[in-house]
Amino acid sequence: MRYLPTIGLEIHAELATRTKMFCDCRNDPDETRPNTNICPVCLAHPGTLPVINRAAVEHILRLGVAIGGTIADATEFDRKSYFYPDIPKGYQISQYEHPFIKGGTLAHVAITRVHLEEDTARSTHVGPVGPEPVEGKTLIDFNRAGIPLMELVTEPVIRSAEEAGRFARELQLLLRTLGAGEANLEKGEMRIEANISVSPADGVFGTKVEVKNLNSFRSVERAIAYEIERQSALIESGGKVVQETRGWDEARQETFHQRLKEGSADYRYFPEPDLPALRLSLIPEFSAETLWASLPELPWARRERYQALGLSQDDREYLIADPVRSAFFDEVVRELEGHAESVKLAANYFISDLGGAVGKATPAAFASLIGMFATNQLSSRGAKDTLARMVEEGGAPEDIARENGLIQISDESLLGGVVDVIIAREESAVAQYRAGSVAVLQYLVGKAMQESGGAGNPQAFSELFITKLS
Ligand SMILES: [Zn+2]
Repeated sequence: MRYLPTIGLEIHAELATRTKMFCDCRNDPDETRPNTNICPVCLAHPGTLPVINRAAVEHILRLGVAIGGTIADATEFDRKSYFYPDIPKGYQISQYEHPFIKGGTLAHVAITRVHLEEDTARSTHVGPVGPEPVEGKTLIDFNRAGIPLMELVTEPVIRSAEEAGRFARELQLLLRTLGAGEANLEKGEMRIEANISVSPADGVFGTKVEVKNLNSFRSVERAIAYEIERQSALIESGGKVVQETRGWDEARQETFHQRLKEGSADYRYFPEPDLPALRLSLIPEFSAETLWASLPELPWARRERYQALGLSQDDREYLIADPVRSAFFDEVVRELEGHAESVKLAANYFISDLGGAVGKATPAAFASLIGMFATNQLSSRGAKDTLARMVEEGGAPEDIARENGLIQISDESLLGGVVDVIIAREESAVAQYRAGSVAVLQYLVGKAMQESGGAGNPQAFSELFITKLS
């Protein structure tokens, strides 16, 4: 590597609350009719007053505790002034000097701060197309205006595109685990900006470039990799990196100039006079201890627990990625308590089927299916067939397996009878085996499986042939 990349991330995420940040309009990200969830407060009518949404505050504080950050003793909201059609007040209510959370770590990346603000309206620029050309028009939908928005800023300590992608994925997972938001990038519920610079040596900072419009984890990684390469090549050829905001062109897989970067002083931050300062340390429900006690099992704790159960990394991540799926798996594990081997079997054989079973089979039924497989009552094929029927039709695995003739017989006296029949019938194969042809054993086992209607255990048959023919 010619230069040392330094990357910092700024991530916005919409929080899942019943109502908006400062009014009682519904916070419904799935509302498709424009300007439905609106009121004088989020339309910025003169004389209206904001009221702080307690649930949004709680989400951000729980996230803060989860990442090991420090909750502010006292905090306030500030006005961030700028003029844009999607922000009709002429300012956004945000936080500046006193964010709710300072510090903390996630995915080995140090976090600077986490604060709370309101989302802006959504602008749609309409081009000159359609039967009635409306060239130059911008449509504004205020459904999004005032939705609680979390902004998280990392320290500039990330060194690679992969590390940045890992961090963003882990944050999405954490938000989902906490029930704080779905954070779908493609729906705009989570928006990522990356500040990227390259420098010739550690300790010397290069000029940073901000990249926006990153609406998938892949584009985060690709845009960062592209910028590292672009800036390095620029410096190498004697050029100079300029401080600017760039966008990501998904089609061309490259960043492009958007505008030169304005500094924070332009925003004329000052404390929002319409809202009280919050003395968080005086609110018992917002103490770090109480918040900590309210947290579910966090992704990294779950990862460790699954590792201790012997699950592979892929299986661990597959389960952790979906809280509903992992809750189902955890119930199966509870049902199998004390049978460590069965838990491993459950993971190895059935994790790929787990997603389909959630909500259709009960964890108890799933656990008894695994029990039947672990005790050789079902072959892996038979277990998969039984599971498929469980998911489709419901019912207990014992009944399904019996009704469909999938129960594997391991009883020696029963299997022994079948083996005797085959030995008597297949004289020439038996002679070949006795003459030293080991391969013919598979043929005999196959005949025995056929005779038992597929219900025998091939391993048990094989052992019985060897014993009886020796
Ligand atoms: Zn409203």
